[in-house]
Amino acid sequence: MKFDLEKLKQEAQNKSKENKAFLTRLRKKKPRDLDDQTHQLHHDVFEYTDCLACANCCKSISPIIIDRDIDRMARHLKMKPSAFIDQYLELDDDGDYVYRTSPCPFLMPDNYCMIYEVRPRACREYPHTDRKRFFQITNLTYRNTFVCPAVLDVVEKLKSIYDK
Ligand code: SF4
Ligand code: SF4
Repeated sequence: MKFDLEKLKQEAQNKSKENKAFLTRLRKKKPRDLDDQTHQLHHDVFEYTDCLACANCCKSISPIIIDRDIDRMARHLKMKPSAFIDQYLELDDDGDYVYRTSPCPFLMPDNYCMIYEVRPRACREYPHTDRKRFFQITNLTYRNTFVCPAVLDVVEKLKSIYDK
């Protein structure tokens, strides 16, 4: 079943004020059990979230790609790192490498990743809802509610825990 990504955007938009205010409160309060609660929700939500039916992160945003990623991917594709950079990457406003095209050049029509085993670390870690010190990434999490249905879900469930 495919995700209705337009509906996701609309839902995130409808809840944007509420979510921003909630995540700001969470960042200030830093509940002691926040990481445990968030990691459990991450686990629960990804039990039923099918990334292959979505791939919205690969379609609409680029990971930040670090030198180690470039070396690994270039080796895998039997290219020189400099040729890999020329063909696939550009620098963003912060001076980080990102893909120059969107959707990602390695996303296949069936939503599989062509270079899954060697994909950038940021792809492996997305959407970061299992990260330690979750309170530090509430702004990023807010932005990701517009991209990732799992993040919108996790935030909704966090509200029912901390905003009772
Ligand atoms: S991580 Fe989120 S945005 Fe990316 S494919 Fe999975 S559900 Fe979709
Ligand atoms: S490298 Fe793979 S996982 Fe990362 S954005 Fe591209 S298709 Fe998605």
